[in-house]
Amino acid sequence: MSSPKRGEILRAPLLHTPRNPFFDARALEAYWDGALLISDGKIEACGEYSTVRANYPAASVTDLRGGFLLPGLIDTHIHFPQLRILGGLGKELLSWLEELALPEEARMAELSYACETARRFLHALASHGTTAALVFGAHFAPATAALFEAAERLGLRIVSGMVLSDRLLRPELHQTPDNAYRESAALIGRFHGRGRLLYAVTPRFALSTSETMLEACEALMREHKGLRFQTHLNESRAEIAEIARLFPWAADYLAVYERFHFTGPGAVFAHNVHPSESELDRLAASGAAVSHCPSSNAALGSGFFPLRRHVEAGVKCSLGTDVGGGTGFGILKEGLQAYLLQRLAPKGLALSPAQLLYLATRGGAEALDLANEVGDFTPGKAADILYLRPPKDSPLAAVVERADSLERVLAALFTLGDSICVSEVRVEGTPVYCAEGDDN
Ligand SMILES: [Zn+2]
Repeated sequence: MSSPKRGEILRAPLLHTPRNPFFDARALEAYWDGALLISDGKIEACGEYSTVRANYPAASVTDLRGGFLLPGLIDTHIHFPQLRILGGLGKELLSWLEELALPEEARMAELSYACETARRFLHALASHGTTAALVFGAHFAPATAALFEAAERLGLRIVSGMVLSDRLLRPELHQTPDNAYRESAALIGRFHGRGRLLYAVTPRFALSTSETMLEACEALMREHKGLRFQTHLNESRAEIAEIARLFPWAADYLAVYERFHFTGPGAVFAHNVHPSESELDRLAASGAAVSHCPSSNAALGSGFFPLRRHVEAGVKCSLGTDVGGGTGFGILKEGLQAYLLQRLAPKGLALSPAQLLYLATRGGAEALDLANEVGDFTPGKAADILYLRPPKDSPLAAVVERADSLERVLAALFTLGDSICVSEVRVEGTPVYCAEGDDN
């Protein structure tokens, strides 16, 4: 075959899910002595080291044996202003919002505070191995712009938007629909499609948005190509009861969003803990995705996520940390949490390591309508890569040493991994994070 003369081969055990393991038992592709050839920020080849080496004799080789290569993790639901309220335990959704989340969201009016929060937030994503994220911005345009700018500096793949609300929150978090439309359009003009950034129209949830505000969102979606959409759906029973009261014309919660044409590929609905069968069927038919946030669902007592019903209905699913409502930044930890809760949930699924990896990577890419660009190591995709290396003498190192299959290793990475073993993170082949003092 014809081969480029240059490029870099990363040599290490590697794992990825180029297919969907909920429907294909052989979806996991893994190589003990694996290699990725990276050239111009893209995956050029993926496979056995000996084969890749033979095909690309002129490429340089970086020997990363001792660790493991995975596609960069993808977080499909997270709120950047909530970094500093992590750990607010003992509340349910609506009281948590009022007492903890919304006062902190209001602090984003102060730009210097928002800039510092954005910087630390993005560092936290990268240091946990997350290369792409769908992020709720702030209720303020300057703070949301600060997040985009910081993401561009760091190099992460961030899809975000200003959060829109015009009722029921704190007055300082409300905008008029006219202002929301104008400021969102300006942010779209500045950031949508700039480098790795994309814009997502982001009404907080139907509870806090009037029909006029939802019409403004609909106009934005109609007037700009390739926008993504994000909001919350069916998170808690109290919220669902309020939606029925506020939108008496809607048959269910999803019907509110459907009326404004928000469902479809690239639309991500967070939580969906309490859906009807009809809502699941309609989500699946539209191509929209659900971001499952198991830590948040447990911490806020929102309920067990009906993953089996989503899978059987054909709804795209991915993982989100939610941050303030959740327990931290790790998508690996979120995978473990999904596994644990599904063990206890009524009719829960016994998730395999391959299914966890898919939810944490390719599932996220599909949710964001980026599956042609990221999510696995298929040649032609961007080289968004997570290199995990178990710390010396750690329990993870001990497990990995005697593991007799890469599937077993993968289970251990989800169980014992997370940020302690994130050694290097690359987006389009360029490092966005390297562990300090990595002496392994
Ligand atoms: Zn949320």
